[in-house]
Order: sequence, then C-alpha cells, then structure tokens
Amino acid sequence: MKDVIVVGAGVTGSFIAKELSKYELDVAVLERKSGPGLDQTKGCSGIIHPLQLPFGSLKSRLCLKGNAMMDKEAEELGFTFERVGLILVATNFLTFLAVPLIQLYLKLNGVTSKRLSKKKVLEMVPNLREDIWGGLFLPTAGVVNPVEMTACAVRFAKVNGVEFHYDCEVRGIERREDGFVVKTTKGDFEAKCVINCAGLYADDIAKMVGYDMEITPGKGTHIVFEERGFSNHLVVAIPLKPNKRTKGGGALIGFDGKPIWGPNLIDVDSKDDTSVKKGEIEGIIAKFSPLFKRKPKGVVAFYAGLRSIAGRDFVINQPVDGFINVAGIQSPGLTAAPAIAEMIIGMLSSMFQLRRKKRVIKPEWKRVAVMGDEELEEMIKENQDYGEIVCFCNMVSKAEILKALEEGACFDAVRHLTWAGMDCCKCHADILKIIEEHEGKVKKEIDGSEIVW
Ligand SMILES: Cc1cc2nc3c(=O)[nH]c(=O)nc-3n(C[C@H](O)[C@H](O)[C@H](O)COP(=O)(O)OP(=O)(O)OC[C@H]3O[C@@H](n4cnc5c(N)ncnc54)[C@H](O)[C@@H]3O)c2cc1C
Repeated sequence: MKDVIVVGAGVTGSFIAKELSKYELDVAVLERKSGPGLDQTKGCSGIIHPLQLPFGSLKSRLCLKGNAMMDKEAEELGFTFERVGLILVATNFLTFLAVPLIQLYLKLNGVTSKRLSKKKVLEMVPNLREDIWGGLFLPTAGVVNPVEMTACAVRFAKVNGVEFHYDCEVRGIERREDGFVVKTTKGDFEAKCVINCAGLYADDIAKMVGYDMEITPGKGTHIVFEERGFSNHLVVAIPLKPNKRTKGGGALIGFDGKPIWGPNLIDVDSKDDTSVKKGEIEGIIAKFSPLFKRKPKGVVAFYAGLRSIAGRDFVINQPVDGFINVAGIQSPGLTAAPAIAEMIIGMLSSMFQLRRKKRVIKPEWKRVAVMGDEELEEMIKENQDYGEIVCFCNMVSKAEILKALEEGACFDAVRHLTWAGMDCCKCHADILKIIEEHEGKVKKEIDGSEIVW
C-alpha cells in the first residue's frame, strides 16, 4: 500500500510530489495523459504573478508566497525563470491620478512597486504610445515555461523515489478502513491518502468519495508573436474598473522573449474546448493594440487553455479523512504551486509522522540553448546527440528530445518541454521521426491521439 497517491501531474500535483519526495514516504502520481503538465498547465500564460486580488483570499496569499519562493525553486529544480517585471501603464489622466493610491494599496499588502514617469516608461518600452501618462513597475513579476517548470519538479520527484504512472486514468475510488483503493485504466492502487489534483476533472474525482463540487471551464486565448524584444517587460493598462473574474490579460512575454497577448476569459461548455475563434483573436488585438505604436511583427501561434473554476477561490480541503482536494486551481495556480505544495505538507503532518530524508538528489538539466561553447563541447564528447541540432529556431539537440521522452512519451511533451518546433515548425518531421524510432508510435498527448504508428 502506498502512503500517498496524487491524482494528476499538472503543476500542482507535480510540485506536491516533488515536496513529498523529500520525506520518507511511498508516493505515486497517476496521470491520464502521456506526460506531465499537458492539460491546464500547458495552456496557461507562464507568468509568475506579483499579486492576486482580492488580497486575503487563499489564492492571493498562496500567490504572494509562491512568487517569493520561485527563485529558490528554479535554482533547486533547474527551470528557467526570469523576473522581467510588470509595468502597470496609466493610459489616461484618471488612471494616472490613481497610481499613488494603487502603490499605497500594494505596499499595505506586501507588494513592492516603483512609480515611473512617462519618460521612464517610454525608455523601458519604446514601442508604447507617446500619449501614455506614466506607470508603476512591479519588479517581482516573472516568466517561466510552465511545462518545463512542471517536468523539472517531476524529474526531482522521480530521482527521489516517487513513481509516475502516465496514460493512467482514475475511474473510481473505494474507501476502506485503512485507506483507499484507486481504480484506474492501469489497474488498482491502494493508498492511505489520496490527493486530488485533477484540474478540470477534480470535481469528478471529489464525487468518487462523495464530495459534491462543480468545476466550470473558462477559456483563455493567446496570440504569440515572433518579434523578440518588442517589449522586455510585461505590460498591462491600469483598468478604470477591475474585473472580478479575471486579471484581464496583458501584453505579456514568454520565457523565450516572444510577445504573448492575452488571455481573455470565455465561458465554454466543454472541458475539451481549446478552440481558437477568429472573434477572440480580433478582440485581443483590439484590446491591446491601442497601447502601442504598432503591433509586434509575425504571428507564430494562437493557443487557448482552460481554467478550472470552482467559484472565486481555490478549494483546498479535506472533506473525508485521508482525502485532500486541491481543486479549482485557476490562475494564479502556476505561481502558487510551490506554496500549495508546502501547505499540503502541513496538512499531511497530522496524518503521518513526517521524517525528512537525510539526502535528496538534485537532478541536472540544462538546455543547449543556454550552454556556453566549452560546456557544449564537453557534453558532445560524452554524448554525440548533443551535437545534432534538430530545432534551429530554439537550438534544441537530439539528446534533449530523447531526454524529454523520458518525462513524456508524446509529441506535445517534447515540444513544450524542449521548445523544439515552437517557432517555424520546419523540424516537426524530424521530431516525429525521433519519437517514432524511440517509441514505435507517436501520440499527440494521450492514448488514442496517435499521429504516426
Ligand atoms: C488561459 C490560462 C492562463 C493562465 N495563466 C496563468 C499565469 O500566467 N500564471 C499563473 O500563475 N497561472 C495561470 N493560469 C492558471 C494555471 O495554469 C493553473 O492554475 C495551473 O496550471 C493548475 O494546475 P493543476 O495541476 O491544478 O491542473 P492541470 O494542469 O489541469 O493538471 C491536472 C492534471 O490532472 C489530470 N487528470 C484529470 N483527470 C484525471 C483522472 N481522472 N485521472 C488521472 N489524471 C487526471 C489531467 O490530465 C492534468 O494533467 C492560467 C490558466 C489558464 C487556463
């Protein structure tokens, strides 16, 4: 019998597994897709938010804490994280007048910011329109690759003893006196404790132990542009009236420096509806274009993700002894993930005598794109596949693609984890060939989504 079973290997489940791997516990993670972070996490904007309103809510507190923990997490797990900072731009006289009040409000709630003159804002982002009034800089905002961040937590958890079972969908949970039997498409697993991190489907899992809740999907669409350096900071116009359901998106940037505009919030019926509609794209362009002198050059991609919404806040509770819900983890769940993991350890300490392992292993993971020449030469001496570049846009080698397959044996895991084929897509055929040679077949992201076999 396992001590703990985590359902779902999104960023939340993976960070909880990573934290659990530091203790003397027998842990398994069950994930219905073929790799980690391929559901809600994959579809997010990748921003490590500096704050979340309303202050005092659970999601706000976990956001502030997660943000503060992020440098240490990135260092320990080896994912790319850059505090690029967020500029809140006053685009008219009224919002300009509000800047000192916003700064005071943020300060009272523990968020650092710096007031910027119009001249300074335009120096920092020369592509902004000349008729802006000024702004506020929040230096703690950052960017990550969400799937890389998740997979780095998985890698850490794995080398420290956690089992991951992919293509393993939980279909039922039976309560027993000493714990639970978790029924999956890969057989039964017994555990003393179950942690429900199933994202959009966390309501289905909760119902399996008799807890009634409802998750509704909220779609968010993004546009990714080619022009790196269009802005080196995240840019958001100060709204005249904040929207209670969404932060409203912004002119964001990805971890690789490409501009990302969005996301919006659209209520949809289906938990699979990640379609991108023409009207959504037009809406995003209409919303963010007026901030700038021109649009960024070259559209690379459109994508949408689905937020798992269960009311206004996260739902983290223990409705049944030994069963913990980590549900309704909508935005800013990516930012909050390390803090959520810490909170769950606190909850488990009343269930288990938690003993920390004497030694934990720190896995090594470095991308060719950030290696120096000498380091790359050393790597090639050890493994010639590092010298075979497959994706020239993002400098991804065959060795990294093969390593990514250990984390997720499917096309989406390889693309999102390594960033290969995310720009001009010319290398897609080469990626498919490597996966096919290694795995025998190529799935997009889940059993039944075969592209080549
Ligand atoms: C458009 C959009 C933009 C966002 N932007 C940001 C942002 O910039 N910053 C930020 O902090 N947050 C952001 N978020 C929020 C963030 O993406 C989520 O909070 C976070 O990804 C939630 O992670 P999770 O692990 O809880 O859920 P998920 O990533 O959905 O993981 C749940 C996992 O459970 C698996 N699963 C489901 N059912 C079963 C089952 N029956 N058996 C086994 N496995 C199962 C799923 O396959 C999935 O992998 C955004 C979200 C969206 C949609």
